[in-house]
Amino acid sequence: MGLSCVEAEEREAAKMRVPIDDYRFLDLDAPTLPAKEIINEETGVVQWAVWCKHCQEWHYHGRGDGHREAHCSKLTSPYTASGYNLTLGRQ
Ligand SMILES: [Zn+2]
Repeated sequence: MGLSCVEAEEREAAKMRVPIDDYRFLDLDAPTLPAKEIINEETGVVQWAVWCKHCQEWHYHGRGDGHREAHCSKLTSPYTASGYNLTLGRQ
């Protein structure tokens, strides 16, 4: 019995993932965006902000390198499907 299409696709997708630790990974199919570390003035929580050229707005995530689901508000943004990898950019 061969692999079903879905199984083959899942294996292909898994290859593109580079683990960072037990729960974080980079997705080599997704773009890498430079994040800027900010402190949320209301909560005092440190977050990573990333400028989204598709939405033309900042998206905010918990800090730390790795792949994220896109916080895109524009449905046409290609990040919606791929997500993106965050890494701390130049301040
Ligand atoms: Zn976006």
